[in-house]
Amino acid sequence: MNLKDHIGHVPDFPKPGILFYDISPLLAHPAAWKATVELLAGAVSRHKPDVLAGIESRGFLVAAPLALYMGLGFIMVRKRGKLPGPTQPYTYDLEYGSDTIEIQKGAIQPGQRVVLLDDLLATGGTLAAATELLRDVGADVRGAACIIELAFLKGRDRLSIPIDSAISYD
Ligand code: 5GP
Repeated sequence: MNLKDHIGHVPDFPKPGILFYDISPLLAHPAAWKATVELLAGAVSRHKPDVLAGIESRGFLVAAPLALYMGLGFIMVRKRGKLPGPTQPYTYDLEYGSDTIEIQKGAIQPGQRVVLLDDLLATGGTLAAATELLRDVGADVRGAACIIELAFLKGRDRLSIPIDSAISYD
């Protein structure tokens, strides 16, 4: 099965000049989605994680089923202000301005082995920030995985953890 057949390419979304890689057709195709989850589970399992962390919002679509499939817990890395109770924030620079992500305090115990999940790796800024956030609470961040890697942007060079992708565009 060629997973690339199930990725949509949407020009000028969300802004003019941007080509958006759409995972919706993949999620809507049971066999292709199952193959994707199985592929990522194989890659992620070698890190022997205690817990999987998904990055808002499409990272949740990857991490939650993968955690269930692997018999692991799932925690959310969210944008500021979305999680109830005490949270641990991490602020990082964007091209214009900055952004803050958070997790709930106590969601991860110091020393727990965590693998991060997102739908797509572009410049690597999002996964790099999530790695730092988890390290700030003492997590042992073993690696990351995503459905799509835009390899031509060399995002993996920006990461301090190994990353696996199911589909890569050179
Ligand atoms: P990065 O921080 O690596 O530059 O960007 C990755 C983040 O932006 C991911 O959280 C991902 O959801 C989102 N993203 C950027 N471009 C695309 C795209 O073309 N398709 C999808 N599905 N997500 C994208």
